[in-house]
Order: sequence, then C-alpha cells, then structure tokens
Amino acid sequence: MADMWSAEVRSWVMSQIRNTGTRPEIAVRSLLHQLGFRFRLHRRDLPGTPDIVLPKYGTAIFVHGCFWHQHDCPLGKKPKSNRSYWLPKLRRNEQRDAKAQRTLRSDGWKVLTIWECETKDTAKVRNRLLRELRKPNAK
Ligand SMILES: [Zn+2]
Repeated sequence: MADMWSAEVRSWVMSQIRNTGTRPEIAVRSLLHQLGFRFRLHRRDLPGTPDIVLPKYGTAIFVHGCFWHQHDCPLGKKPKSNRSYWLPKLRRNEQRDAKAQRTLRSDGWKVLTIWECETKDTAKVRNRLLRELRKPNAK
C-alpha cells in the first residue's frame, strides 16, 4: 500500500513541476479534445483552480485523484501509516474542495468532478461529458 501512495505522490509532484497534469487529467483533456470542446486549463483566478474550464458551457471540471481527495472507492482508502500526518492533510483537501465548489456554484458555474478511478473507463467518461455538456448553462 505504501508503494501505491508514494507512486501517486511522485506522479503528482512531477505533474506540478512540469506544469502538465496528472494521468487522469490528461485522459479527460484528450477526450474533450476528441469531442471538439474548447477548454482552458488551471484557471487560477477561479476558486480551487479548476483543472479544466469550458467557458462556453459555464462548466468547471475537477479531475480528482482518489487518494488526495478521498473518494469513496478502494483508491481513496485512508493511509494506515503516518496517520497523524495524512489525516489532517486529507481532511483539509476535502474542506477546500467543498468550499471551492460551493463558491463556484454560487457564482453560476456548473461543477463536475471526475474521479481518477472513473477515467479508467473511457467510454463512460465520454458519455458523462457529453451528457453533462449538452445543456449550456444559462448565465
Ligand atoms: Zn475513486
């Protein structure tokens, strides 16, 4: 288990250094691209710096790592070691996510969260994106 986290931590750190994106994020980006959607990345001027923003659709997408953002799935299991370090950190992430999404919604954004584990099923993510983006947000 410890190996899995450190691999995830490493991949995240590298994505920040290269300013590229994590593997799940790149998967979602390439799907949107294939579907012909135009989007912007990492809008730091928006709450929570959404990973992908589709201005035309008034939609902000967060592609969340299951561990970092504590998804209710096997990848989101809480660590068994170093709990005094991880638990408050993960809790802060959850609170930050909730707050950013609340603020975005109250500003009129549609907010989608796509989980790392979901991105393993490309067809499913594709269908979800098409379904969610069919109706532009009346702003
Ligand atoms: Zn998950």
